[in-house]
Amino acid sequence: MKRVLIAVAAATVLFAQAQGFPGSKPISIVVPFAAGGPTDLVARQLGETMRKTMGQGANFVVENTAGAGGTIAATKVARAAPDGHTLLLFHIGMAATPALYRKIGYKPLEDFEFLGMVNEVPMTLIGKPQLPANTYRDFENYIKANAGKLNIAHAGLGSASHLCSLMWQSAVNAKEAMTTIPYGGTAPAMNALLGGQVDLMCDQSTNTTQQIQAGRVKAFAVTTAKPLSRHPLLKDYPTLQEMGLKGFDLTIWHGLYAPKGTPPAVLKQLNDALKLALKDPDFIKNQEALGAVVVTDGRVEPAAHKAFVAAEIAKLKPVIEAAKQFAD
Ligand code: ASP
Repeated sequence: MKRVLIAVAAATVLFAQAQGFPGSKPISIVVPFAAGGPTDLVARQLGETMRKTMGQGANFVVENTAGAGGTIAATKVARAAPDGHTLLLFHIGMAATPALYRKIGYKPLEDFEFLGMVNEVPMTLIGKPQLPANTYRDFENYIKANAGKLNIAHAGLGSASHLCSLMWQSAVNAKEAMTTIPYGGTAPAMNALLGGQVDLMCDQSTNTTQQIQAGRVKAFAVTTAKPLSRHPLLKDYPTLQEMGLKGFDLTIWHGLYAPKGTPPAVLKQLNDALKLALKDPDFIKNQEALGAVVVTDGRVEPAAHKAFVAAEIAKLKPVIEAAKQFAD
């Protein structure tokens, strides 16, 4: 009897340890781009919300590891201790980078535990305020008339802004028209645009909406297949499809990941906190104000998000192959 009691007591301690996550150590959300940009913003709002939904004194911190279109951060998280204290918030780059890099330090579908999808965000094609064009048509004519003289900013090979510029340059056949300038994120790229050092950028509405609203940048089009008819600020901008770029459809999504091998109980705790965060009225309101749509369907489930990323990898591969001639 005594022996049984000791065994039960030992099991209780083990169980209590598994339940002890996160303990006093903070949970770090690694963001693959510079602070102040759109991926950073999603991570900060999400971390703050998951702090509430996870409870137990959980403390989320955001760690910006910019560079190489997000691949440095993804490699770092793939190799981090699988204890739930290091997570990755990445966007569509998770699916685009395998087609854009000859070699990357991780396999998106094998080296991570998928926690779930967070949101979808449209992109906007914007220019510095000094550009003489006011409509998308004027803009396209201006680009053609100024071939070789313009530059377009992005957040590195494989980033969303890079993907958008590749797809758009390919669709309008603007190969000779512009030089691409990479930054560690679209926060510094936006500063360069506001300062007039670069001419154009395609970036998530979460980074551009307030600048468009304040008239600090000019917007010409949105990248989604359907018009953003419900968005008070972006509803009047045409889609690139409406402007004749057949089949142009680019929506950026974000997902949350942990290193492969993170214990199932910890993953469940994180996924539960994520699901609750995506129902948080303040999180939804803050995201919506910037044009992002929080995921409400089954894609917040790990397996469904993984299947979604696999489908995105397959979908983007031919698109990127076709546009790759515009990469430099
Ligand atoms: N918006 C960026 C991109 O183009 C990333 C960022 O700075 O958040 O991928």
